[in-house]
Order: sequence, then structure tokens, then C-alpha cells
Amino acid sequence: MRPRLILAVFLGLLLIAPLVASEFHVTLLNYIGLYAIVALGLVLLTGVGGLTSFGQAAFVGLGAYTTAYLSATENLPGWAASLGGSPWVGLLAGLLVTAVVAFVLGFLTLRLSGHYLPLGTIAWGISLYFLFGNLEFLGGHTGMSGIPALSVFGVELRESRKFYYVIWAVVLGAVWLTQNLLDSREGRAIRALKGGVIMAEAMGVDTARSKVVIFLVAALFACVSGWLYAHLQRFVNPTPFGLHIGIEYLFMAVVGGSAHVWGALVGAGVITVLKQWLQDWLPRLLGASGNFEMIVFGLMMIVVLQRARDGLWPILARLVPQREVRRDVPQGEVLPRKPVPESGLVLLEARNVVKQFGGLVANNNMSLTVKAGEVMALIGPNGAGKSTMFNCISGVNPPTKGEVRFRGEVVTNLNSRQIAKLGMSRTFQHVRLLPTMSVLENVAIGGHLRGSKGVLPAMLHLEREEEQRLLAEAARQVERVGLKDSMFELAGSLALGQQRTLEIARALCADPCLLLLDEPAAGLRYLEKQSLAELLRKLRGEGMGILLVEHDMDFVMGLADRVVVMEFGEKIAEGLPDEVQRDPAVLEAYLGGVD
Ligand code: ADP
Ligand code: MG
Repeated sequence: MRPRLILAVFLGLLLIAPLVASEFHVTLLNYIGLYAIVALGLVLLTGVGGLTSFGQAAFVGLGAYTTAYLSATENLPGWAASLGGSPWVGLLAGLLVTAVVAFVLGFLTLRLSGHYLPLGTIAWGISLYFLFGNLEFLGGHTGMSGIPALSVFGVELRESRKFYYVIWAVVLGAVWLTQNLLDSREGRAIRALKGGVIMAEAMGVDTARSKVVIFLVAALFACVSGWLYAHLQRFVNPTPFGLHIGIEYLFMAVVGGSAHVWGALVGAGVITVLKQWLQDWLPRLLGASGNFEMIVFGLMMIVVLQRARDGLWPILARLVPQREVRRDVPQGEVLPRKPVPESGLVLLEARNVVKQFGGLVANNNMSLTVKAGEVMALIGPNGAGKSTMFNCISGVNPPTKGEVRFRGEVVTNLNSRQIAKLGMSRTFQHVRLLPTMSVLENVAIGGHLRGSKGVLPAMLHLEREEEQRLLAEAARQVERVGLKDSMFELAGSLALGQQRTLEIARALCADPCLLLLDEPAAGLRYLEKQSLAELLRKLRGEGMGILLVEHDMDFVMGLADRVVVMEFGEKIAEGLPDEVQRDPAVLEAYLGGVD
């Protein structure tokens, strides 16, 4: 069956389920839907963005309690009385409260890295749970009842069969929004969070902002789920918003396949059904009552982590013939370009740059300049400090002392994102790309600063025109570096030499006036090197400044206008390629005195 047909069958089954299923099963499906909305947020946050949160249940609670408070409290205080009564006002208020709380919590915790972040989410997950239980006006641990039923188009949804359609419309809506978001400029930035932060920042992506975005989206999804829950149950107490439920949501996302949108539905379905089933059967089998299902879940989690780390979705997806990968090259209007600096103008000036790593002086008093329309080569033996110099210049790892000016501006204290904005673009000696994204998408990350449409247009797919132009630009750069045939392949499947070439296309996609290339020809075959040299000559002819680190001496000497030679972190020679090649100090130190 074709994927579209499977989707149609799935939607058809969803549509008729409440007409044929028993009350019990409809209720089960309702809960699966509610959980899936939360799990979907976790797919975005944890699976895609790599930020583990145990605290999502607390956001569900915020959504549920806000609407409960506004719609079920008799004698609301004056300011709230004017809002009270309507579940829809409860939804808006819940989203607002959640956004504010998530923003504050995100601000406090997202800067934590490693295991500190999950610990942070546990901390606020517990705090909010106890807040719900201890606030008098929220009914304490007994909770609140008398929450009105939801009315949609004048139909009061008192039965679960009717409520079902609202829940599943929200689930599908959330799937659509999430998929749209991931398939956009903002989505590429989000997908770079897991393992590509340094690269993305060097391409101008504000990764801290992307983290806040997915944190907010995940929290708002959870809030909507809580709102639905409150009006379905018409009663709330703190229990379903505690830490152990937060862990269960994470189970769902991981078991379903945490990096896949549909994995959230699979995970929510499998865990909910299994839990129900185990709750029924285990006590009977064991002849005792208790929460035995949690023990089985724990074991199941360990098996999943051992055997199917990517969850169930990829396994299911393998059973279905894959949709044909789109292979039509994106076409679109050319993006505007920055004015090209006048040839010969000094673009980059590094003065007395010192970089220390503890006691190691990796760069000592290094100075160099690069002009528009020239290729400057930085050479020296391994460990001389060339890559460190690149990091100092591009803001990836700023210098300990000294000054870097770019286009007349002091950039020593700017971060790599700010420097990228000024028109400097770089590649990395140890390639930094996103292996599970296509070549085209990887290159499009380079064009991040040339688009401006934000998260909302992306989620609603209102930015298609800009996206098309960005992808078309990326496609042109892919063709330009000679990777056209691999445009739709996964970047991780390329040979190392081609991955380096991909990085050049990505850097070019940013429309830079200064290009920093760290060993671009390593791993290339002879003919590939030739065409790379040709490309660099062409770029130089167009007025680009190029700073090049390369070990292949024929490549360097045939291309460079000027050469700086480094050894042990210091500059030992500088001049025209011919002069440098004859310099005794260079021959001695770099070429080992031969010739
Ligand atoms: P090159 O690119 O010329 O081969 P590098 O700039 O990579 O040299 O390295 C220069 C020296 O700095 C090496 O001794 C290397 O081990 C050290 N170095 C580079 N980066 C770091 C770092 N992040 N922390 C500590 N030492 C580093
Ligand atoms: Mg290096």
C-alpha cells in the first residue's frame, strides 16, 4: 500500500471508530489522543531537539487548572469574574499562563547542559505538582469539580463519543503544525540543535532561541491537552500532573520513536493500551493487587533502549514502501545579495592574536590580513595552531588576547553568529554536518540569515515562497560545488571528501564576502581538487576574500596570492608563494629541511 493510502485508511478508521467501538474503547482512544498531544511536544523537544524533559505533565496541569479555576470557581475575584465561565476563555488564559511559566522556566533551565537539564525539569515538575496540591483556591489535593462541558458550534460535548472528534482534530492539527515546523527554515535550525550547535551558530542560527521555541511549543501542546482533559473529565486533581506521569509521557515519546512525529501517536497508543491491559491482567495472573504495570514498563523501557533506540516508528515505517524522495531540483527567484566589497580592500585583520588552552599557547602573537579578491593561505605542520586561529577569527573560540577586525569593525568579542551576520562564513576541518538530513537541507542551513520568516508562518506553512527561494539558492550552491547528483542523498552517506565540499556549498549559501576554508581539499581526488581550485579562483575573481588552510602544497602554491606559515603557534614566514617556498626558516621547520 502506498503511504498516502495508509494515511487515508488511518483517517477513515479514526472517523468511524466512535460509531462502531464500545464506550470503553472510545474512552481509551480519547486518552490516547490526549497523551499523543503531549508526546508530540516531547518528540519536538526531546527527539528532535535533544532536550530531555520530565516535566511535561506539569504543563498539562497548568492548562487543566487554569480552565478549571476560571470556569468552575464560584465567586471568582473581580478581575477573573469578567473572564470566567467560558472554556474558550479558559483555553486562552491557559495558553497565556503556560507561555509565561514556560518562558521563565525555559530561561532558567535551558542553559543547563548534559544531565543538569533533565534534573532541572524534574525540579520544576515536582514544584508545580505541589503547587497545584497546596493552593487553597485550586481545591488542594481534593481538586476541583463542576467544570462545565465543552460546547462546539452550540453542541454540548457531554459524551465521550462526541468529545472524541474534538480531541482527534486537535491531535491531527498538532501533527500538521509540527510537521510544517520541522519542514522549514526554523525547522532546520531546530534539527541542528542535536549535535550541530557550533555549526549552526557559525551559520548565524540563534540556537538558544530555537531551544526556547521548541520548549514553548511543547509546553503549549501539553497545555491544550490539559484543557481538553479538564473539560472531558469535568474534574481535576493534582495526581495526573505529577512527576511519574511526566516520566510516562517521556516513555511514550521514546517507545514510539522520539524523533518522529507519528511516533508520538504510536507511543501514546502502545503505552496506554498496554497499561490498561497490564492493569487488568497482571493482578489476576499474580493473584495480588498493585501497580505491577510500572515494573513491566520499566523493563520494557530497558529493552527498547537496548534493542530499538529509535523506537517503534522506524520499525513500522520499514514495513511500508517509502515515499519516493522528491528529486525535482527546487526552482525559485534568486535571493538578494550583499554588495561585494571593492577588490583589494582589507576585509580581515588579525593583530597579535594569542590563544591559550590552560598552559598551552596554541596561537602566539599571530597577525594576518586578508583582502577582498585574494586567496591567503595559512600553512604549517599539524598542531601548528591553524584551526585554532580559524576559531579565533570566526568567533567559535575567541582569542585570549589580541584583536580581530572584520570589515573595519572589531569583532574580537562577538560570537560566531554575530560575525556570520557581518559576512564571514567558514567550513570546519572536522566536518560538522547533520548526517540524517539531505545534502540540500544541510546546505540550506547556510542560507539561514537570508530568510526572515519566523515560527508561526512556518507552522502554518505561510512561508512557502521564501522557503522555495532558500532551497533554490541552496540547490544552486550544491550544483556549483559539483554535488548535484547527491543533492537528495543523506549528508551522512557521502564520502568524507564530498562532505567537505558540502561544507563549502553551505558556507557559500550564506553569501559571504570572506570565506574561511579549513583543509577543504583533504580527501578529494585529483580531478575534484582541480575543480575546487577552479571554483576558488572564480570566487576570488568575483571579489571574495578566501583564507585557506591546506596541506597539499601543489594546491596551495598554485592558488594562493599570499602565504602565512605557522609553527608552534607562531608566524615564521609571510609572503608570496615563491618567496615562502624559498625561505630557509620554512624549509627548515615546515618541510624538514629537505630540498
Ligand atoms: P592545526 O590546525 O594547525 O593542526 P590546531 O589549531 O588544531 O592545529 O591545534 C593547535 C594546538 O592546540 C594543538 O596542540 C592542539 O592540541 C591544541 N588545541 C586545539 N584546540 C584545543 C582545545 N579546544 N583545547 C585544548 N587544546 C587545544
Ligand atoms: Mg587544523
